[in-house]
Amino acid sequence: PHSVVLAQRPHGRIRSSDFAQVDVDRRPCPEGGVRARTRHLSIDPAIRGWLDDRPSYLPPVGVGEVVRSLGIAVVEESRHPGLAPGDVLRGFTGWQEEVLIEDPQRWDRLPDASTARLGVLGMTGLTAWVGMGDICAPRAGETVFVSAAAGAVGSTAVQLARLAGARVVASAGGPRKCALLTGTLGVDAVVDHRADDWADQLRDATPDGVDAVFENVGGPLMEAVLDRMNNGGRMALCGLIAGYNDVVRPPGPRNFGLLVTKRIRAEGFIVVDHADRAAQCEAELGAQVEAGRLRAFETVVEGFDNVVGTFVDSFGGDHVGKLVVSLG
Ligand code: NDP
Repeated sequence: PHSVVLAQRPHGRIRSSDFAQVDVDRRPCPEGGVRARTRHLSIDPAIRGWLDDRPSYLPPVGVGEVVRSLGIAVVEESRHPGLAPGDVLRGFTGWQEEVLIEDPQRWDRLPDASTARLGVLGMTGLTAWVGMGDICAPRAGETVFVSAAAGAVGSTAVQLARLAGARVVASAGGPRKCALLTGTLGVDAVVDHRADDWADQLRDATPDGVDAVFENVGGPLMEAVLDRMNNGGRMALCGLIAGYNDVVRPPGPRNFGLLVTKRIRAEGFIVVDHADRAAQCEAELGAQVEAGRLRAFETVVEGFDNVVGTFVDSFGGDHVGKLVVSLG
């Protein structure tokens, strides 16, 4: 089986040469654990942060170590009394075809290996649910802004805002993603952040200002959105992807003082802190999917050999919805 390890610390924009694919000898099943085969890998912007040698909410991946990643794996051999071959587990598989799991009780046991369990019915869905439900908490008729809205978290967040009865304004890069937002996702107005006139588009799309923001990107767009916010607004700080590949951290918004004068509450959150509510979230979002009120968007790339390229290209942002590499 193959694994992908971090070959060197990335400097700035991530490159394929920062990684190396290695051949690993088949290892014995650990006592009390399982040996499993990876089925799907979740490609997340957060992985970029874990590769930098700086303190964060998880320790950095070491040079020579398997790249950390969420995934779904199917048990092939078990020395755990509660698990048998064929059982499906979700957890930090890492970028490896074969996973030895010493503590399977800490992994999620899944009823099936569908890719949606990494997306809307997994960490992505929980992220959107926590940020929109707990922090943005839109009331009917309020205006909610979501950035990177055609991506995994964003495409779920806009749908949750609509279900709450909000007017939804969303940003994405390029006409294809903007058309998905206004067409399939029923967003009320879009801002193409790659267009020259994006600032005019934002102003025209928010005649009544913005009451809540689900922030995925940061940078100039976040600053402009902050300018449009109403008194008593809420800002869920989910991610600031615009700066993840920068060597020098980008400056914060120049209009930060608006948080004071407009009494805006900005709150950062990390999904792993909300794992205790994952089952509740999965049940709620699963029911919405069943009822046809919530759509799961995903882009699935086949083949372990494509994991590095898919991750490197993901920052270019051509995919829509949850990005998954499937090992078949
Ligand atoms: P996706 O890959 O699905 O979406 C990311 C999108 O961001 C890209 O498709 C691209 O869309 C946009 N983007 C990338 N680079 C830039 C840039 N330089 N400027 C503007 N837009 C850019 O990722 P997710 O939906 O999984 O993640 C979205 C955000 O949520 C990230 O910031 C991520 O770190 C964060 N996150 C936070 C979690 C938490 O616990 N707080 C958990 C999970 C995710 P486009 O083409 O439209 O520009």
